[in-house]
Amino acid sequence: MRPSSQQSTQSTRESTRERTRHLVIVGNGMACHRLIEALVTSPARPAHITVIGEEPVPAYNRILLSPLLAGDTDCAALTLREAHWYAEHGITLRLGERVLAIDPGKKHVVTERARLDFDALVLATGSTPAWPTVPGIELQGVHGFRDLEDAKTLTEIARRGGQAVVIGGGLLGLEAAQGLYQRGRGALSVSVLQRGEHLMNRQLDAHAGALLKKTLEARGLNVHTGARLAGLIDDGQGAVAGVALEDGRVLEASHVVVAAGITPNDLLARRAGLACDRAVRVDHHLRTSHPAIYALGECCQFEEHTFGLVEPIWRQVEVLARVLCGEPGAGYVEAPSATRLKVSGIELYAFGPVEAAIDHEVLRYSDPESGEYRRLLLKDGRIEGAVLYGDTAQGPWYFHQAQQGADLSAARSALLFGQADVEAFLNSPTQEAA
Ligand SMILES: Cc1cc2nc3c(=O)[nH]c(=O)nc-3n(C[C@H](O)[C@H](O)[C@H](O)COP(=O)(O)OP(=O)(O)OC[C@H]3O[C@@H](n4cnc5c(N)ncnc54)[C@H](O)[C@@H]3O)c2cc1C
Repeated sequence: MRPSSQQSTQSTRESTRERTRHLVIVGNGMACHRLIEALVTSPARPAHITVIGEEPVPAYNRILLSPLLAGDTDCAALTLREAHWYAEHGITLRLGERVLAIDPGKKHVVTERARLDFDALVLATGSTPAWPTVPGIELQGVHGFRDLEDAKTLTEIARRGGQAVVIGGGLLGLEAAQGLYQRGRGALSVSVLQRGEHLMNRQLDAHAGALLKKTLEARGLNVHTGARLAGLIDDGQGAVAGVALEDGRVLEASHVVVAAGITPNDLLARRAGLACDRAVRVDHHLRTSHPAIYALGECCQFEEHTFGLVEPIWRQVEVLARVLCGEPGAGYVEAPSATRLKVSGIELYAFGPVEAAIDHEVLRYSDPESGEYRRLLLKDGRIEGAVLYGDTAQGPWYFHQAQQGADLSAARSALLFGQADVEAFLNSPTQEAA
């Protein structure tokens, strides 16, 4: 039951122009917040909007949970809008309330407290940490890192000290590990387990991964790569006491933080019979297999893509806001995103494929003394991927060139040194003569 794009454009117009009197949004996270910010600027917005969020506070900047845990920022910095802003904009905000079921036929949602009819429904339920299916995962002392409550719990753990093991050497795992370590100020030993052979193996090549490992270890973190989790060890009273690896090693752990990927929150949609695969399937107007139900953010799947960064979600929001205002224009198109790590003092920037394909030309620059490293992947003189470690100032320029598909073959020898050198090279008299 996969919706077709043409069908969608036509019936989206029909369904939204007449019907979006009452819009209900499930989940008051980052996607929902951005969507209502866009809707309230339009005179064609749905007359009545109800937002239902299970967290007890209005949507906040989830990205800043990492600096919050590290103690680099405070809770106030995470605030996006206070509850009164919703009321001032004619939005009913129901917080601390979980939606339990959707009835697409009767067009209502059932929450813990009420039944609400909708004309259009948006699922913006995000995702949850992906829990490894190993023995002991249910023990006390095993935590995720997803919301404000988790950040508070981890902050308290860091203050108390002990041994924390973070499962996952990707972006989130490293931000959690560094945050815990920084908060613990020496009282908490922190180990990171990475299943792959190097850290952030979805974004970095082996060389940059090794540089990152070295930097983190020099700061005091214990990093174990190629570490396959076998199970968690019970202290005999239902709490975690350690982590067992497949190679027989055992690490002591008073707390374990699971940050090894995310699972889209698509249960409501599945139970309601909407088409789901790895997440809730949507077409290019973010419409699910039901004409009045949309999904966006980490709970949705567009073609074969699911989402874990805000950049593509912001583009989804622009599309959906227009659709809900009865003005569907161009649909959502998948585009590459760049990655940064939010660990103070560590600069890295990456986009595109990690491994070079057979037809890629690889350009590398490495300065072991300063710890700087740059690697570009080119195809036919066009940048397809970059990994920058140490000095990342040129990252956005490389990304822009890649998005533009700019042919940089003429400046190949200057490329690793960035925009100024490339432009100087291209404008040099010898080049002009050539
Ligand atoms: C620690 C951390 C750091 C991050 N750093 C970055 C970064 O640097 N850059 C980046 O691009 N992205 C980052 N992300 C990812 C980014 O935060 C997410 O991509 C973004 O929040 C997704 O928005 P969303 O609205 O889809 O989901 P969420 O923001 O998770 O919101 C979903 C909301 O729905 C609620 N909900 C779920 N089910 C129900 C229900 N049945 N009833 C009611 N409410 C429900 C949830 O409680 C939640 O509040 C980070 C994430 C975390 C956790």
